[in-house]
Amino acid sequence: MTQRSPRIRQARGPDRPLIASELDRLREKPPRASKNEPIDQLERLAILNGIRDGDAPSRIARQWSISTRTVERVRTRLYDDPLSIFGYHVVIHRGKGDYQCVFCGESKSRQSRCQRHVLAHFFAHHIAQNIDLGDIPEVF
Ligand SMILES: [Zn+2]
Repeated sequence: MTQRSPRIRQARGPDRPLIASELDRLREKPPRASKNEPIDQLERLAILNGIRDGDAPSRIARQWSISTRTVERVRTRLYDDPLSIFGYHVVIHRGKGDYQCVFCGESKSRQSRCQRHVLAHFFAHHIAQNIDLGDIPEVF
């Protein structure tokens, strides 16, 4: 059996970061037939989470049985086009004035604040603060 990841998050309960449950779901999935299969949303989130943790692409690739090239492609896309990250469920709209970061569980009252918060997981603070959020569609 392929071991997806040995990393265990401690937090439990409603405030547990959503990424922890998403990674649990991914661990429960059957191993990929091939490292070169197209990756799904869960795997993309796992890759982003690894990048956020500062893990090397080869390590992320090993951890999730994904090719290193795929991990590098996701990383390059993120740094070339930071707003592309909002194509995935990284900001969870939990209700009026409640936007939650999928990676750490922190909530913000405004979507744009939460988006900048998410960007700050990947970019230096001053860069994250100055990225033009433009016309990002509302998160639902
Ligand atoms: Zn966060």
